[in-house]
Amino acid sequence: MIQIVGSVAAGVILAGCTPAVPEQQFLNDALRAVGGRERVAAVKTVLIEGAGVNYNLGQDMRPEAATQAFAITGYTRKIDVANGRQRIEQTRTPKFAYFQGMQPQTQIQGIDGEVGFNVNASGEPSRMAPQAERDRHTEFFQHPITALRAALDGTATIGNVRSIGAVRQADFKSAGAEWTMTIDPAGLPLSTSTRTYHPNLGDVIVTTTFADYQETNGLKLPETITGSVDEFTTWETHATRQSIDSDVGDLAAPAGLTARAGAPVPPNVTVQQLAKGVWLLGGQSHHSALIEFGDHLMLIDAPQSEARTLAVIAKAKQLVPDKSLSELVLTHHHFDHTAGMRAAIYSGLSVITHAGNKEWVDNMARRPHTIQQDMLAKNVSRLNLNTVDDEREFTDQSMTVMLYHVAGNPHSDTMLMAYIPRDRIVIQVDAFSPGPGPGGHPYAANLLENIQKRNLRVDTIVPLHGVVTPFAELVKVAGGARTN
Ligand SMILES: [Zn+2]
Ligand SMILES: [Zn+2]
Repeated sequence: MIQIVGSVAAGVILAGCTPAVPEQQFLNDALRAVGGRERVAAVKTVLIEGAGVNYNLGQDMRPEAATQAFAITGYTRKIDVANGRQRIEQTRTPKFAYFQGMQPQTQIQGIDGEVGFNVNASGEPSRMAPQAERDRHTEFFQHPITALRAALDGTATIGNVRSIGAVRQADFKSAGAEWTMTIDPAGLPLSTSTRTYHPNLGDVIVTTTFADYQETNGLKLPETITGSVDEFTTWETHATRQSIDSDVGDLAAPAGLTARAGAPVPPNVTVQQLAKGVWLLGGQSHHSALIEFGDHLMLIDAPQSEARTLAVIAKAKQLVPDKSLSELVLTHHHFDHTAGMRAAIYSGLSVITHAGNKEWVDNMARRPHTIQQDMLAKNVSRLNLNTVDDEREFTDQSMTVMLYHVAGNPHSDTMLMAYIPRDRIVIQVDAFSPGPGPGGHPYAANLLENIQKRNLRVDTIVPLHGVVTPFAELVKVAGGARTN
């Protein structure tokens, strides 16, 4: 029997013959709406097959946009309800110019109790990182049947039933997960949601919405399921076939999958001097550039994490100890290139970015990070934000840097590149990433167009992924891309 949370509830439920308390009523109504307590309690497996779409949260063309989508085909969600196991397989095909290539990619993800794992293209499983594993474990319960079945578990609790307009909500805890369920007046589950932590967005509510219920083997199952992170829709699936208690095979985590993905690799910041007062701060996959002015330093990009950005700032202080690092240029808003922005604000850097990113930077700097406190959450610092429309010059007696909008680039609408006229250097990211890697350069032709349109005299391209390259290489690659 479910435990009821709340001071009034306990005595009432023990009385037995009085009307059900709100918590019991909530659960009874939801169970009845989807097919009845006995039917839900007896479910062994749920199989969902269909198609859908994944969106590109944090990596789209503009901060507020949801224009880039991946088509999802071959979607299969197998749920072993009785054993708390699930496996999702899908094929993801980009519907936009994707830098990793346009080829379909198969993704396989499993959860077995609290153990989460991915299976790569060669069939090799690897255990998820701790936060991903916690999120996937919670997602297991983001389906009406798994959520209500978990509520029937002897250790489950349900509490805080409230009415919001015509719908009711209640908070559930079971099997190490917590969620809020919303039901319609007839009891049918409309959504489940959970509060969790996102490294860029901080505290977020992840919501799964259920719609288009259809009868399947004596149960009502939603045909359309939609996922969102706060107000951003992140995925949708539409079932073309669903079945209860069909054979879903053995969904146990692969044997030997005991090693949890280790702690994040400590940042490794390497230094490559490019010209007098100009350095590439490299190492690992995402890089920054450091530029020395007469009385201060400018950093370009704060990627990957708070830890990397703090290490990059420490390296800058080591290289030029007598000048303060006071400005951060954000080339674009993508999550992987801005994950250290809050650490830079905490460290006293002002932020310079394209005008189209202004609201987004403001918002990211203010968002609550209470579930995992970062440095900025612990030490609130004032954001000093400057923007660039088409171009802006930063100059003093020893250095001139031009920031230009990379107009019309299919990677991001609100992207900047930096140009140092004295050294004929262009610093940019993601538009052209020469060096080892997947190879295709779908955004390079646009970068070249922007350089030529502005009549910039360039000898060297400094990418913040990959390796420093002569300008001629960009001309060659961009020309090649145009004839393809
Ligand atoms: Zn990007
Ligand atoms: Zn990138």
